[in-house]
Amino acid sequence: MKSGLLVLSMVACLSGCAMNPVSGKQDFVMMSESDEIALGKKSDIEVRKEYGVYDSPLLQDYVDKVGQRLAKNSHRPGLQYHFTVVDSPEVNAFALPGGYIYITRGILPYLDSEAELAAVLGHEIGHVTARHAVKQYTAATAAGIGVQIASIFVPEINTQAGYNLVNVTGSALLSGYGREHELEADRLGSAYLAKTGYDPHAMMDVLSILKEQEQFDIAQAKLEHREPRGYHGLFASHPDSDTRLQQVVGEASKLQAASHPVEGRRIYLEHINGIIFGDSPSQGVVRNNEFLHEKLDIAIQFPENWTIKNSPKQLVATNGDAVMSLSLVDAFQGNPSDYLLHRFGRGELTSFRSSGLEGALLFVSEKSAAGAIKMGDKLYVVRAAAKSSIAFSDARPGIEKTLHSFHPLTDIEKRLARGLRISVRKANPGDTYEAYASKSPLGKNALGYLRLLNHAYPDGEPHPGDAVKLVE
Ligand SMILES: [Zn+2]
Repeated sequence: MKSGLLVLSMVACLSGCAMNPVSGKQDFVMMSESDEIALGKKSDIEVRKEYGVYDSPLLQDYVDKVGQRLAKNSHRPGLQYHFTVVDSPEVNAFALPGGYIYITRGILPYLDSEAELAAVLGHEIGHVTARHAVKQYTAATAAGIGVQIASIFVPEINTQAGYNLVNVTGSALLSGYGREHELEADRLGSAYLAKTGYDPHAMMDVLSILKEQEQFDIAQAKLEHREPRGYHGLFASHPDSDTRLQQVVGEASKLQAASHPVEGRRIYLEHINGIIFGDSPSQGVVRNNEFLHEKLDIAIQFPENWTIKNSPKQLVATNGDAVMSLSLVDAFQGNPSDYLLHRFGRGELTSFRSSGLEGALLFVSEKSAAGAIKMGDKLYVVRAAAKSSIAFSDARPGIEKTLHSFHPLTDIEKRLARGLRISVRKANPGDTYEAYASKSPLGKNALGYLRLLNHAYPDGEPHPGDAVKLVE
């Protein structure tokens, strides 16, 4: 019996234990390093598909260079790291197992120096070196929900599982790991900053900026009926009053390699000058719940209280109980009615003309429908489904209205569909944020956004001769 137990525990350890690179202790994780890398590599393909990679080789190179320098000073210097700027307006950064690290272009305008960029990357490297994603994956596997993490980025919307997936995207890996893991990532990131020649207090600066941005954005999101764009590493209290955070950053200061730490403000601002702010015109932009796509020359208005989630793969809108998606069939010949009947089977079918375009709507079941509109050689397909037949009949007028709102862009919409960009300029004597805001395309929120972007929230003013980030 004794030897049997021994064999059992040896087997458990061979497949289940691995050295934690940070603590040097054995972790119970069901994954070897090569499995970890393989999982990261596989999920990387999904992340790139889901978000798209931001199209700027210069910026990608720069972010990678800063990241690689930090990684060399981390607890896993031998691991091959990959740093990618993804084309998302969200304010976030995240890490997959195996050294795959992503930063959104949406977070970059809020950062003000290379040291702050390094702080965000250092925090993510900390998640990788402490194997937080692997631990979470192991916990999820043990609980029988492991498959979801690996396939979280593949929403397939016309199934109940897909419906749940749409709701959970944004949680798990993207939303962070809980207080203890986040604090550990801050501690490790601060240490990597110090060893690479940056001031570890950049970690505090970043968290403070992002906290202010988050608070402002939560208020805006409420007004605009959308999801807030918060960063995953933030917790309820303001970083300035977070004593544990101050302590971990303070400890890292002792590791500081350089007496004159690198700030790198000028070089950082050069690299983000001209980057897209907010929605990407290549993926289509959303203004007041209207989706506008410059290249496709289309506009479609979703109901006021629905939340729109746009990815390169598809556009999804939901009110919590029902969901609509918009997709495209290229090189289409034929008519919308025939397409719907052929694709979705029999049901109550109506055809219509709207903005000069030919369209049709088919009720497939008591809780799902599909509509199609033909424009040129393209067919736009709107699919709708709800949790129950009651939820569907509540949503039905909104679904029909959305379908009928489809139209080619007007001149005003064409201008909006071009998207916005960050412009770095020198402040002149007498310049004020009020004056910048009055000329800004950001509308009524311009003053708050411009101050947040320039670390001048809530009441700072530009200093003559200093660089300022504007939105044009
Ligand atoms: Zn984190």
